[in-house]
Amino acid sequence: MQTYKIAVLPGDGIGPEVTKEAVKVLKAIEESDESISFDIKTFHWNSEYYLEHGKMMPDDGLDQLKTFDSILFGAIGDSRVPDPVTVWELIMPIRKNFQQFVNFRPIKLLKGLQSPLNNSHPIDFVILRENGEGEYSNMGGTMFPGEQREMAVQNTVMTRQGITQIAEFAYQYAREHGKTKVTSATKSNAIIHAMTFWDKVVEEVAEQNADVEYEKYYIDALAAYFVQRPEDFQVVLASNLFGDILSDLGSAIVGGLGLAPSGNINPTREFPSMFEAVHGSAPDIAGKGIANPIAQIWSAALMLEHLGRRDLHDKILSAIEEILEEKNVLTPDIGGTATTELVGDAIAGKLLTKV
Ligand code: ATP
Ligand code: MG
Repeated sequence: MQTYKIAVLPGDGIGPEVTKEAVKVLKAIEESDESISFDIKTFHWNSEYYLEHGKMMPDDGLDQLKTFDSILFGAIGDSRVPDPVTVWELIMPIRKNFQQFVNFRPIKLLKGLQSPLNNSHPIDFVILRENGEGEYSNMGGTMFPGEQREMAVQNTVMTRQGITQIAEFAYQYAREHGKTKVTSATKSNAIIHAMTFWDKVVEEVAEQNADVEYEKYYIDALAAYFVQRPEDFQVVLASNLFGDILSDLGSAIVGGLGLAPSGNINPTREFPSMFEAVHGSAPDIAGKGIANPIAQIWSAALMLEHLGRRDLHDKILSAIEEILEEKNVLTPDIGGTATTELVGDAIAGKLLTKV
C-alpha cells in the first residue's frame, strides 16, 4: 500500500466548505482501494489566522509544507484582509518556493452538462499557463506622480528557462495523454521583444518533439476560436497573462466556476504541487451550504493523477459525470437545489459502491 502525505489548507469563505467534500471523496477512495491511503494534515492558514497572528502562515510554514507529497488548497480571500496580503504572503511564496511553474487547467465539457456555446462537438483540452514570470512580474514602477507627464512602466520578463520548462511539460503531457497537437498563444506581431522570444524558445522545443503537431495563434484570434471551434484544441500553451484570460474563457464555455479545477505543478517533482479550484472564496454564498464542490473535488482528482494514479482521477471524474447526468443532486449554480454536502455525499457514494 502506498501512503501519500497530503497537506490541506481549507482557506476562507466557501474554501473550507468545498474542501471538506474533496477530503470526503479522498476518504472514499481510500476506503474503496486497498492500494492507497492518505495521511492528511490540515493547516488553518487563512485570513482568520492572519487577523490573529499578523501573518498568513508561521515563519517555518514552507518548511512544514515541503515534507508533503501534495497540497490541497481552498480559496483564500476575505474583505478584512487586503488581497495583496493573501496573494503575496501565502499563495505566491508557495508557488515560487515550490517552483510550481505550470498552472494546469483542464477545459472539459463533462457528460450531463450543456455548453453555453450550443456546441455539438466534445470540448476536451488543457490550458498550461506559465505560472512564475511573464507579464505578471513586479518589475517596473511609476514616475512623476501627479504631474502631466506621470507614467507607469511594467516589464514583462521571459526567460529561456521559464519558457523551456513549460513548453517541455506541454509536450510531455501531450505524449502521456495521447494528444497530437500543441497550440501556443502568442502576440509576437505586437509584443515584439517578449513574445517573439516566447515563439523562438517554444519552437525550439517543438522541433525536438516533432511527433506532436505544433501551431501558434495570436491571442486575440485564439480567444475567438475558443468560442467558434473549441473542439480543435488539445493542449494550449500560454504565458502568464494570456493563460489567465484564456482559462476564465475556457471555464465559461464548459459550465462555469463551480466546475473549474486547477493544479500548480512543480514539473521536476522536487517539491509538492498544489491543487485548487479556480474560483475564489465567494463571500456572497459562503456559509449558505450551496457552493458547488465539484471544482475542488476534481482538483483533488488532478492531485491523484499527478501522484501517479490516473486511474483514480478517472474514477472520480466518472462519479462526477454520473451525478451530472442523473441531475438529482446538483447545486443551484448548475440548476439544482442540493447542498454542498449532499453533492459530496453523492460523489463519495458512487465511489464506495464501485468497489
Ligand atoms: P476572488 O477574488 O477570491 O477570486 P471573485 O470575486 O473573483 O473572488 P469568486 O469568489 O470566484 O469571485 O466568485 C465569483 C462568483 O461565482 C460569485 O458570485 C460566486 O458566488 C460564484 N461562485 C464561485 N465559486 C462557486 C462555487 N463553487 N459554487 C457556486 N458558485 C460559485
Ligand atoms: Mg477571482
